[in-house]
Parts: sequence; C-alpha cells; structure tokens
Amino acid sequence: MCGAAALAPGLARAASDLSSDTDVVIVGAGAAGISAAHALAGEGVRHVLIEAGSRVGGRAFTESETFGVPFDHGAHWVQNQERNPYFNRAKASGHRFYKATEAYRIFRDGAEVSEAEAGRLWEVWDEVYGAITEAGKAGEDVSAASVSPSGDEWAQTAWFGIGPWEMGKDLKDFSCADWWNSADSVDWYCAEGYGTLVAEHAAGLTVALETPATRIRWGGQGVEVETPRGTVRAKAVIVTVSTGVLAAEGIVFEPALPVETQEAIHAIPMGDYNHIAVQLSEDIFGMGEDGYLLHHVGEDGEAFGALTNASGTGLAYCDVGGSFARELEEAGEEAAVDFVMGKLRGMLGGDVDRHFVKATATAWTADPLFRGCYASAAPGGYPMREVLRRPVGERVFLAGEACHGDLWATVGGADLSGRDTARAVALAVAG
Ligand SMILES: Cc1cc2nc3c(=O)[nH]c(=O)nc-3n(C[C@H](O)[C@H](O)[C@H](O)COP(=O)(O)OP(=O)(O)OC[C@H]3O[C@@H](n4cnc5c(N)ncnc54)[C@H](O)[C@@H]3O)c2cc1C
Repeated sequence: MCGAAALAPGLARAASDLSSDTDVVIVGAGAAGISAAHALAGEGVRHVLIEAGSRVGGRAFTESETFGVPFDHGAHWVQNQERNPYFNRAKASGHRFYKATEAYRIFRDGAEVSEAEAGRLWEVWDEVYGAITEAGKAGEDVSAASVSPSGDEWAQTAWFGIGPWEMGKDLKDFSCADWWNSADSVDWYCAEGYGTLVAEHAAGLTVALETPATRIRWGGQGVEVETPRGTVRAKAVIVTVSTGVLAAEGIVFEPALPVETQEAIHAIPMGDYNHIAVQLSEDIFGMGEDGYLLHHVGEDGEAFGALTNASGTGLAYCDVGGSFARELEEAGEEAAVDFVMGKLRGMLGGDVDRHFVKATATAWTADPLFRGCYASAAPGGYPMREVLRRPVGERVFLAGEACHGDLWATVGGADLSGRDTARAVALAVAG
C-alpha cells in the first residue's frame, strides 16, 4: 500500500517494515506532527513519524488537480501573524503572501442590501459579539446562544457569522469562556495555498505514510505503537490526531486512557465546516480579489458565507458550518453544490450559470482520519482544555490544534503545540 503513495517533494519514505525501537513515536503528520518531528530532530531525539493518510499536512491540504489552480481543502486563512511560525515561513517561501482585505457584499431576498441595512447587520453583529465577549470575560462557561440577543431580523445572520462560519458550530454548541480565550487576528493569504506551506515545511522529514496507529499499549515501561507495518517500541508517543478521531476511538489505547483524559476529549468536540468551492470564469462578484459575500439568514439557519475570487483564481469558497454543514455533507456533494448554486443564482442571476466552470465540496466530518474541522469546548467544557494537554503516565502526550491554549482551531496553534510538546517529551525521555 505504501508504495502507491506519492511523496511530497523533499519527504523521505520510511522503511517498509517499521518494527523497531526508537525514543518517540509521533502519530499523525499534520501541522502538529510535522513541527514535533522538526523539534525532536533539533534536540537529537530518535523518532518515527507515522501518518495514516497518503499525504502530509492533515487538515491543511492544497491541490491543483481539481480546478487547475490551488484549492485549499482545509485551512486557507493564515492567522495570528505575531505568533504563528507559518507567517515567517510564508514570507520566506517566495510564494505570493498578502494581507486580507475586508470588502463585503450582502444580499437579502435576491437583491443587494442598502448601506443602511448593511449597517444594521454590523450593529447586530457587534451586539452578539459583545454579549459573548462579556460572558466569556466573566468566565461564563455557558453556550454562546444562551447569552446572545436574538430578536432582530438580522440576528440569525450574525449568529451564522460568529458561529457556523467562524467556529464550525451553532452558537448553542460552544462555550463563551473558551471562545473568549482564543486569540484574535488579522488574516493573510498565501496564493499557493496554506496546505502548500505546510507540505513544504515537511521537506527533509522521514514519514511512514499509509501507516495508521491502530493500538497504543502504554501499560508497561514505555509504549508500543501497533501499525499494519509492524510495532514500534518507544519511550513515549506524541498523538496529534483530532479529538474527533480520539472520541471515535480511531486508536485503541491499552489500558484505556484515564477517565479525565477521556472526559477532556469529549468536552472539546470537533465542529463541522466545509468548503463548497465554485469556479467561475469571470469575477461576477465585482469585488476584485478576495471579497466576502453574505446573505440574510432565516430561522432555518441554511446559509453559507463566501470568499470570492480567492487570490484572483476565480474560485469562490462558499463555506457552510455547524449543524447545517453536517446535514449538507450527509446529503452529498451534488446537494451541497445545488444549494450554493441556487442561492448564488438568487443573488446574481444568470451570470452564475453563464460563467460556471466547475464545483466540488469537501466532507471533513465523514472522513475517519479527521471527523470534523477543528475543536472547541462545549458549554461547561472549558476547564478540560488544560486536562487534554496533561501527559498520561509521562509517556502518552496529546498534541495538536485542540491542545493549544489560545491558538486552538488553527494551523499555527497546531504547529506550536507540536513543537512545545516535543520539547517536553525530549526532556522526559532524556531523564
Ligand atoms: C475546512 C477547514 C477550514 C479550516 N480553516 C482554517 C484556516 O483558515 N486557518 C487555520 O489556521 N486553520 C484552519 N483550519 C484548522 C486547521 O486546519 C487545523 O487546526 C490544523 O491543520 C490541525 O493540525 P493538527 O496537526 O493538529 O491535526 P491534523 O491536521 O488533523 O493532523 C493529524 C494527522 O493525523 C492523521 N491520523 C489520523 N488518524 C491516524 C492514525 N490512527 N494513525 C496515524 N495518523 C493518523 C491524520 O490523517 C492527520 O494527517 C481549518 C480546518 C478545516 C477542516
């Protein structure tokens, strides 16, 4: 199986029989696993990096086969420039890397709204945002829905923007305290795709692709990581798979993880977020590169928000989130594309079909290697973030986006979590 996988440039393939002894096994070659591998290499710690999928990058994945231009299936917005190591990597990469602008067009009932009406939306948006902020600052570990104003005719649109569009969750499903403890940021774009940056950062690493960890035994002295290509024995394991994979028991732990760790995994569940990408031959949105399109959202919550003409490629990322994203993913790609096309026609008329080239939709929730988009604390679950990061028996270390204190849900957070965990593990295995 392994032989079939194409390697990203600069990656080395691990030997086909993995049975061996090493110091540390890293499970998962997404942003966190890649950065953990670099950090261990920097510390001179022997390690083996295994990845269940046939590529590196995990939830940061760019490919150009579908549309002939870079398409980010997962992460696209490069966030947190002060702390995200990908910011400097992007600057040094030679790729076009630039700050996002914030031009919006907003539609309601088939027509663009007046400036005054758009102003009303932003007022309501600020009210909802302010209410969640206030509750979060006060440490209220309650649902964002329980504190958010809902009466205004634009309220559902604001709820959509702050919940499904940003968090991949309905407002009822995430905690104000957790939301408040996440860093704010300005977005940047890499025209070659965020996934390209992450894959490039893996250059020089040796990775065992198509090698899932099926079972981790940690009851003895060190750990034994079972894979279809053999068992790797090590002093410690860094597990970077999503909380969705852990909650679904995609890896069997023997003995079972401590109850508090299991509770933490379930308290920080994944959200649901998909790109329904539509390629158009002309910029029918009329905003130049990287404009935003929103439409009025009704009580049914059936909505998308779009990033239009991304980096001038003609691709519109029409994004759905939360429970509606889940429903649409279950309905299938055709239903997802139909939904978006119907809405776009309603807003922009016949130009949409005249300039339509191609469309596709991602399906992160159903993918057993991810089971969602990114994680956030359910109401009442905020204190469990810290528990999630606690090493188990000094040899099982969870890392990845969900384990970062305030850059969770981001590639930058995953990178930093992988790096910091690896440094802690290097100390643990040296001692
Ligand atoms: C649609 C979408 C949009 C997003 N938008 C943004 C954005 O704009 N900006 C941003 O910063 N972030 C964004 N994110 C979030 C970001 O992509 C993630 O936070 C980050 O990439 C997570 O990295 P990670 O290493 O923690 O986990 P992952 O990327 O999930 O890496 C874990 C790896 O483990 C592998 N794995 C799973 N099971 C096993 C197993 N049993 N054995 C071995 N390997 C296994 C997986 O295949 C995967 O490669 C988005 C995510 C999605 C899905």
